[in-house]
Amino acid sequence: LNSIVIAGAGHAGVQVALSLRQDGYTGSISLVNDEPWLPYQRPPLSKAYLLGKIDATAMQFRPAQFYTDQRIDLVADRGAAIDRQNRRLLLASGTVLDYDHLVLATGAHNRPLNVPGAGLANVYGVKTRADAEALAPLLGNAKRVVVIGAGFIGLEFAAVAAAAGAAVDVLELGDRPMARAVSPAMSELFRAAHAAWGVTFHFRGAVAEIEGDNGKAVAVLTADGRRLPADLVVYGIGVIPNVGLALEAGLGIDNGIRVDAGLLTSDPHISALGDVACFPCLQNGERPTRLESVQNAVDQGKLIAARLTGKPAPYTALPWFWTDQGHLKLQIAGLSGGADNHVVLGDPAAQQVSVLCFRGEQLLAVESCGRVGDHMAARKILARPPALTPSMAAAPGFDLKAWEA
Ligand code: FAD
Repeated sequence: LNSIVIAGAGHAGVQVALSLRQDGYTGSISLVNDEPWLPYQRPPLSKAYLLGKIDATAMQFRPAQFYTDQRIDLVADRGAAIDRQNRRLLLASGTVLDYDHLVLATGAHNRPLNVPGAGLANVYGVKTRADAEALAPLLGNAKRVVVIGAGFIGLEFAAVAAAAGAAVDVLELGDRPMARAVSPAMSELFRAAHAAWGVTFHFRGAVAEIEGDNGKAVAVLTADGRRLPADLVVYGIGVIPNVGLALEAGLGIDNGIRVDAGLLTSDPHISALGDVACFPCLQNGERPTRLESVQNAVDQGKLIAARLTGKPAPYTALPWFWTDQGHLKLQIAGLSGGADNHVVLGDPAAQQVSVLCFRGEQLLAVESCGRVGDHMAARKILARPPALTPSMAAAPGFDLKAWEA
């Protein structure tokens, strides 16, 4: 291969470029970046960056000089169409990039709020550095914040807003926080923590409309007739993969760009990874799965670079994830979908808990709050065929770290 083009310069795209050089690839690398900054990490956008604890430079993966030194050509443009026949990526500016291999790392965009008033000023999603920079100055002045969606990003933002002194209401369709991703016990720990920080939850509540005054949001109206006053509204109701390029090029799509176990699309000259890719996930019974995490983007980036430099392998990495809310860090190893049995270790009153999620006798995932050692042990345990059963874990005095060692 002499020319590799990567569309999208987020976690996934940047990792492919870095790993290609680490793996000894000497051909050209074009990394197409459609955001107006050097490539940066997203997790701080709803945490440290929003709180002003780190600056924009600290969010960058690498300084500009690094890309020059590594001969990674940062192309400030946007992929507009793929000409598969001639192996060319057409850019929005009209420029054409020839490729021997194309990597699609286009990520995802926020699922929009489809209600009247969603377009009012003071209604934000948190996806890009531009979003965080628009939000940060409003935080100090906001007295009443309504967060729509009690997923990771909504709750990270709720904690930040509460710490900034706002009264925060969280409106959530489901009946507990982070229901899609964590066990009832862990939801309860975080519900109680947020409540103690002054956050008010409204479960089983759908947003009907955002009420405006002079173009600005002043309240969120719920489907069951409640009115939550707001001078700032933030929503986090999931994301939609950016499949446009792939779809128009006729690649297989399935809740994301469909890839095989080696992360190749239906075209052998095109790979896809990260938030946009739907892959047969070992930990999910090899069902087509799309994961939204830094770990997934990074490990998949390494795997594609290894394949392109002659070391193909199926993707089997253990999924893991973290979220920071207030002073609490939640770490999750594995995927807990389908769990029917939970064993709780630790002390909920001290906010130090690990929840072991089983399906029958099989350990699927471990959620840890304030127990970093458990999380690291769980990553090792889950990376090989797990032999830990619920009855072993429920025995008095059971210690996950000792079991792993
Ligand atoms: P992205 O990072 O979204 O990058 C895709 C890039 O492609 C974007 O720059 C996009 O503009 C660009 N692009 C799209 N279309 C085109 C095109 N046609 N041409 C060129 N470029 C294009 N994960 C964790 O594990 N832990 C966390 O605590 C955590 N916190 C998060 C907080 C926030 C606020 C957000 C938004 C995400 C968070 N995540 C977290 C998720 C994590 O950031 C993503 O899973 C990760 O960024 C995915 O990387 P990616 O490269 O696939 O996609």
